[in-house]
Amino acid sequence: MRLLGPRLHGVGGGESKIYKVVVRVDTDAGVYGLGEVDDFAGVRDALSYMDGYFRGRDPFRANAIVSEMLYGTQAPNPAGSPRGMMSNQRIAVGMCSPTATPWGPVVWAASGVDIALCDLIGKVLKTPAYTLLGGRFRDSARVYLDRSSPDDITDLGAWRTMAEETAALGFTQMKFDIDFMATECVTDVWNRSLSLRQINRITERLNAVREGAGKDFEVCVDCHMQYNVPDAIRVAEALTHLNLLWLEDPTPITNPDSCAQVRAKCRVPICVGEMFIAEQVRLFVDHQACDILHPDVLFCGGMHELRRIADFAELNHLPIAFHGNGGAIATVAAAHVGVASRNFLGLEYHFIETPWIGEYARRDVPLFRDGKVELTDAPGLGIELDREVCRRHLAPGESLFD
Ligand SMILES: [Mg+2]
Repeated sequence: MRLLGPRLHGVGGGESKIYKVVVRVDTDAGVYGLGEVDDFAGVRDALSYMDGYFRGRDPFRANAIVSEMLYGTQAPNPAGSPRGMMSNQRIAVGMCSPTATPWGPVVWAASGVDIALCDLIGKVLKTPAYTLLGGRFRDSARVYLDRSSPDDITDLGAWRTMAEETAALGFTQMKFDIDFMATECVTDVWNRSLSLRQINRITERLNAVREGAGKDFEVCVDCHMQYNVPDAIRVAEALTHLNLLWLEDPTPITNPDSCAQVRAKCRVPICVGEMFIAEQVRLFVDHQACDILHPDVLFCGGMHELRRIADFAELNHLPIAFHGNGGAIATVAAAHVGVASRNFLGLEYHFIETPWIGEYARRDVPLFRDGKVELTDAPGLGIELDREVCRRHLAPGESLFD
């Protein structure tokens, strides 16, 4: 089911529209699980493929289902794997891994299916999803807000006010996108460089953020994988006095050595991982390219894979935060993993100004309280669709689940 609605204060400020895809895994026992998928290119095709591919399988084998999608299996393949054409969809089934490369739509779709399976298994066993992951270390998961930028990026007062307002809401951490902080200074959109003029404006605006937030508030900045090595180092050095929690994705993520060079030469902790599966996390850790890992439950393969990455980070004595581009279901799913992970710092939320995204599914308690997602003893994810909110935001051509 695909939802569509406004997104206020998106990347770069201003208003845009956003889709959210809700996944439901049904069983012949009448129990179902809910998941969420980000509506990136190809994910709905991948979900349709998985609907045919995994029909009839045991939903309690969540790890096997996701692993088969991410890494494939050897012939003669697991019992129940379809062969040839899936007649219900006229899709050819591959002889090996459905995804030859473990990035992209298949992994993103599998992530939503794993979330739904965790919800389903928890409901059947009458236990919260965090118990399936070993139980919780804490009762709630800290949330950090992505603030993007005010509509008028030249107004230092607006940056200060945005920071003050975030602190007043009870949050203790926030993040800004430095590639959108001084766009009036960009003269060549193809180039990965940062001018001194752009670095100076970014620095002035983040100074205003620090003033508004106070000296104890954790502030992070995101580079969105944009910059070349020397300019990433230069902007990190310019921001060192702000005592940032992290500098995120300074260079393109296809080369861990670029990121390692930045890390070796700057004093701001480097955070990476929002689009990674576990294998890519290992690559960046092996190359000493990061201080903080930052996977996303919607992109890494789901809740079990997120927990696996958290444990790997812990074994390397690295903290973990969760990137979050999701709505209500993805945020609660990430929170279940966060409370069950010893080294968890916090999880990201983008949509505080756009209530429907956090309200299309609801719990017995609000999504946030005092800057945290509080978790209860409710089975599974402890969340159900708000059919009225979903009905109001159904995308054209879509219908509500029965
Ligand atoms: Mg990011």
